[in-house]
Amino acid sequence: MTRHRFSTEEITLCRRSLLVWYDKHKRKLPWRDWHDTDSNIVAYRVLVSELMLQQTQVATVIRYYETWMNQWPNVNSLASASEDDVLKCWAGLGYYNRARNLHKCAQLIVNEYNGEFPRDLDIMINRLPGVGRYTAGAVSSIAFSLPNPILDGNVIRVLSRLRCIGSDLKKKSTTDHLWSLAADLVCPERPGDLNQSLMELGATICTPQKPKCTECPIQKQCLAYEQQIHQSSTDIEQCSTNCTFCLKPTEIDSSRSLVEHYPRKKVKTKQREETSFVLVLYRLNSQLEFLMLKQKQSNLLSGLWSFFEVISPPDFDQMNERKRKTFLIEQIQHMSCNIDDIKLAGQCRHLFSHIDKQYIIYYALDDLSIPTAQTQWFTEEQVLTSAISTAMKKVFNVALPQIKLRAFNGKKVGLESIHFPG
Ligand SMILES: [Zn+2]
Repeated sequence: MTRHRFSTEEITLCRRSLLVWYDKHKRKLPWRDWHDTDSNIVAYRVLVSELMLQQTQVATVIRYYETWMNQWPNVNSLASASEDDVLKCWAGLGYYNRARNLHKCAQLIVNEYNGEFPRDLDIMINRLPGVGRYTAGAVSSIAFSLPNPILDGNVIRVLSRLRCIGSDLKKKSTTDHLWSLAADLVCPERPGDLNQSLMELGATICTPQKPKCTECPIQKQCLAYEQQIHQSSTDIEQCSTNCTFCLKPTEIDSSRSLVEHYPRKKVKTKQREETSFVLVLYRLNSQLEFLMLKQKQSNLLSGLWSFFEVISPPDFDQMNERKRKTFLIEQIQHMSCNIDDIKLAGQCRHLFSHIDKQYIIYYALDDLSIPTAQTQWFTEEQVLTSAISTAMKKVFNVALPQIKLRAFNGKKVGLESIHFPG
């Protein structure tokens, strides 16, 4: 068991080496770039960046973060924004509950805490929507210099390699142990920088594949690296035969480096496959317009605008085009066109977190539909700039060239004047 913990001496060495390395090598990122010392503003920036960074790459987040901060530089401005504007700014980042939660956090902080971020970890976790132990730890350590640990995917990887934690990450005993290791390392002097140094190390040096161990500032404290150097893969020592944290010799795959065995790989749950029929209804006034539907609150993409989508019946593979169109007409109530107006535009695919979704896309001219409380006509420009999911933008890109061809051909407009998006 002792090898799965840090000694006092190792803690001192790790802290010192990590902070020296971080000061020299940290990447310049917009949310790290603050000159004001107002911890309330820093807390807001950390919260926005951390929520954006969940599930999303740094390079993508930078652009969104800067746009966001220009629009809503502080909690008060975000609290008074409309949900539609918030979702519009988030459109394309996915996992829209993060945006809704951020918005609710700002409103709660303004309404109940006078615009001042709560500093107490338990209050943050229990009161602020979407804020868990990790985000609360990041905000409290970075903005308020409180010695609270953080544990995200990067930190898990670093810690499990340092201390050879090879047990299942789904087990509470494993994550409890990793949290306690993270708590051991947080130094009271610079807790925010220490936490960020662990994340940065995981993101740039201690990577899932091909970690750059020779450049690692805490290589000497890394047990996985030490084992990799000194032992053959068939001869991995264990604390004892019943240690719950050690990798079992049978779990070692000699084709990979030993360091890469930590943390233990999650068994991937396969995404569920689903097919939808989508209908893009358009009309031609002075310009092309498209009928959009606002998604209901219970929906995965609630609050966003969408074309008309129907989950296909299980036997859709056996249905001919006419049957599919009949099915569409039966399912969609907002349209006023008949079956012969509906044309096939093509297909596209989008991967959601749990669903591998195929869209079969149809379009139809619909002059007669009158917008209801849930529907609205959008111009091309509005479709491209409104709160619309990435999946529906893909659908639009497939349908639009065909709609233009059909709509303008009939009006004898030269095709060369039509812009086809990539
Ligand atoms: Zn062990």
